Amino acid sequence: MEPIYFTPGPSQLYPTVRGHIEAALDAHIPSISHRSQQFIGIYRQTEEGLRELLGIPDDYQVFFLSSANEAWERIIENSVNKTSFHYVNGDFSRKFFDFAENLGRNAVLAEAGNGEGFSEASRYMHLIPHSAELIALCANETSTGVATEADFVLSHKKAHPQKLISVDLVSAWPYYHLDLSQVDFAYFSVQKGFGMPAGLGVLIVSPQAMDKGSYGTYHSFKSLKSKAVKFQTPETPNVLGIYLLGKVVKDFLDYGIQRIRKETEEKAALLYETLSNHPALTVSVYEPEWRSQTVIVADCVDSAPMLAQLAEQGLIVGAGYGDRKRTQLRIANFPAHSPEAMARLIAALNELH
Ligand SMILES: *Cc1c(COP(=O)(O)O)cnc(C)c1O
Repeated sequence: MEPIYFTPGPSQLYPTVRGHIEAALDAHIPSISHRSQQFIGIYRQTEEGLRELLGIPDDYQVFFLSSANEAWERIIENSVNKTSFHYVNGDFSRKFFDFAENLGRNAVLAEAGNGEGFSEASRYMHLIPHSAELIALCANETSTGVATEADFVLSHKKAHPQKLISVDLVSAWPYYHLDLSQVDFAYFSVQKGFGMPAGLGVLIVSPQAMDKGSYGTYHSFKSLKSKAVKFQTPETPNVLGIYLLGKVVKDFLDYGIQRIRKETEEKAALLYETLSNHPALTVSVYEPEWRSQTVIVADCVDSAPMLAQLAEQGLIVGAGYGDRKRTQLRIANFPAHSPEAMARLIAALNELH
């Protein structure tokens, strides 16, 4: 039986991706020039599809990078001279904070414990330094399975119109719905909810953030924009990735984003119900409001034999992140995970003890 990857990234490929890769090879896409009309057409289609799927305002830039890690570095380099503020509630949000420190910035944080999140933004406003140029949030902390509600994110621009707001949507999109006009940076990489091979990141940048500055070499915002307006990139990019992303985005649009959201919530509800009634697994995130719909984390005594038992049935589930490797399971719930696949996983979870 073919394995199904429920790992939170890389993850199961979206079912159409194999056909798109074969079509790309047949059409020699990996060999075409990244300055050709053919590439410009591919770039354009991908960008237009993303704008429609994610509701990207017309005056925002869309840049193709190598990863979300790269987005962290580019955001700090191009928008923070001195001080940044970070909501940290897990390893990914902490890494962004670390990048700011490593780049010599004064990085300040608000911290939540393991499995905890942020709500009621007014409780945190006093922690944000007046001098902060950037406020960094993570819509879905993949390391802990904690989500941040869109209302929490959106309240920051209203309270701090002069500061730039960045949102990590790597494991939240395409499920997560966000009014991008209220944020300045939004980014993801393709190996999670988009069900693609890794190696491509997308960074969305507001006009206010574009005005802030431009530092670095080939991926300074100025350099990126000078090529993006011509539907190109400064370097030789991941042409196959940009091609595949355009195809997958079109597949999502054809399938219907509302339908994707509804199915995501239905699958998540079944998973949480399974964990709540399970003899050997418990929901890790105790506060229902913080529970992620796209990465579901369970606590257990020892993950290793459970992961092995699931793998024997072709169900590849993620271990806990970092030092919780042995005490947690992490289950991705992305568009690539069909309701049928999730039903199979749930049946197998119910056999664990
Ligand atoms: C995976 C992940 C990242 C890092 O993505 P890369 O493509 O490896 O750079 C960043 N943030 C979150 C929330 C993630 O899940």
